[in-house]
Amino acid sequence: MEKATKVLVVDDSPVINRLLTENIKSQLHLDVVSAYTMREAIDAVSSNPNQFFVAILDLTLPDAPHGEVVDALLTLGIRPIILTANMSDDLHDEMMDKAIIDYVVKRNLGEMQYVIDQVQRLYENFDRRILIVDDSRLSRKLLRSLLERHNFTVEEAVHPEQGLTILKNNPVYHLLITDFNMPKMTGAEFIAKVRATFSRQELAILGVSTVGGGRVSVQMLKAGANDFITRPFMHEEFYCRVNQNIDGIASYQKLKNQAFRDFLTHLYNRRYMFETGNSLYENAKRENITIATAMIDIDYFKKVNDTYGHSVGDDMLKHVSKLLTKHFRDGDVVARIGGEEFCVLCINVDKESAQTLFERLRYRVMATPLEVDGLSISATISIGYTLDLNESFEAMVGKADELLYKAKNGGRNRVVGS
Ligand code: GH3
Ligand code: MG
Ligand code: MG
Repeated sequence: MEKATKVLVVDDSPVINRLLTENIKSQLHLDVVSAYTMREAIDAVSSNPNQFFVAILDLTLPDAPHGEVVDALLTLGIRPIILTANMSDDLHDEMMDKAIIDYVVKRNLGEMQYVIDQVQRLYENFDRRILIVDDSRLSRKLLRSLLERHNFTVEEAVHPEQGLTILKNNPVYHLLITDFNMPKMTGAEFIAKVRATFSRQELAILGVSTVGGGRVSVQMLKAGANDFITRPFMHEEFYCRVNQNIDGIASYQKLKNQAFRDFLTHLYNRRYMFETGNSLYENAKRENITIATAMIDIDYFKKVNDTYGHSVGDDMLKHVSKLLTKHFRDGDVVARIGGEEFCVLCINVDKESAQTLFERLRYRVMATPLEVDGLSISATISIGYTLDLNESFEAMVGKADELLYKAKNGGRNRVVGS
């Protein structure tokens, strides 16, 4: 399914409507459709409701004075954040029983910024993965529906072993939510196993159990859980805990990105390439796995700068970087290690497929010009690569560099391997 990217704002107050609309556009760069009545809102979304991932709804509208707009949009599959001038406890409970995302009492500008932050969070949640490990189908179902309401990408495991396999095969999860009482292994034992591989900074763990308090929560926290919640819980408390834990992981990842990514192209940088390269190398030696290390350099790149200017040169670097990212697999390491020099580490390729892989890349770059300012600018690359593990990772990189030099001397736009 295509990712929904639009926001609907429905409020009959011109000031609030404009404030939200303009700020969501300028701060979040998202498309906003604004409406002043329920009728307008329905007309605006009904032809394509799937494009909207959230609606911000005023509960009192001229043609819907009692919050009727909430059900009208829920019917269309659009989940609302509710804005209200005053929220009685009854109204709060009535609204929280529906599949709404949040409710906000509008008193001041701070609350409007809270709404905007929530919209941003909901949008970012599409890229955040959560794994649920619970032997009860019913509780998995409840957790999943709560999480999907906030756009998280959710995976389920019915027992700890399956959970571990999922995490190890695809270590991209932000949060693990695990039950305590499960056959064969308790949640605490499971958490200890997970922590042997995944640190608190990389993966947050939220323990859940019916027999809460005291012993169970202490066991899970001591085993390495970041947080704990007792069933049954208020949905709002659940969301608060999930969000806080996700925030922690997201800010760590951001820091890590700053340290390990190249600012211009967002590829990995030299430092990451050497750190990861060394551990992949050790692993390959031990387990008899092949790696191909390739050095890639754009031919006559200086000419691009000299002819079109430095900024077009930068565009060319980004263009080639995108082609590199597309060309290799997720597990491969693609790094920018110098001005127009790249290094790629490919895991598990034999000599023949490596030659084909790099030859196809060379062709792809040559055949895909950069389109900028009405110009179509072609570039070529030279590649040196080796599968020979040599005596160290540094030596392997040195060998690939030598072969790149050969490719350059041999006339450029070519692949030389060994
Ligand atoms: P060769 O085929 O031998 O590789 O020739 P070349 O011109 O590509 O190589 P050379 O090393 O002579 O020149 C590389 C140029 O890349 C020089 C430098 O100004 C430019 N460069 C380095 N980093 C950047 C950058 O971040 N942005 C831009 N636009 N240019 C850069
Ligand atoms: Mg060059
Ligand atoms: Mg160069």
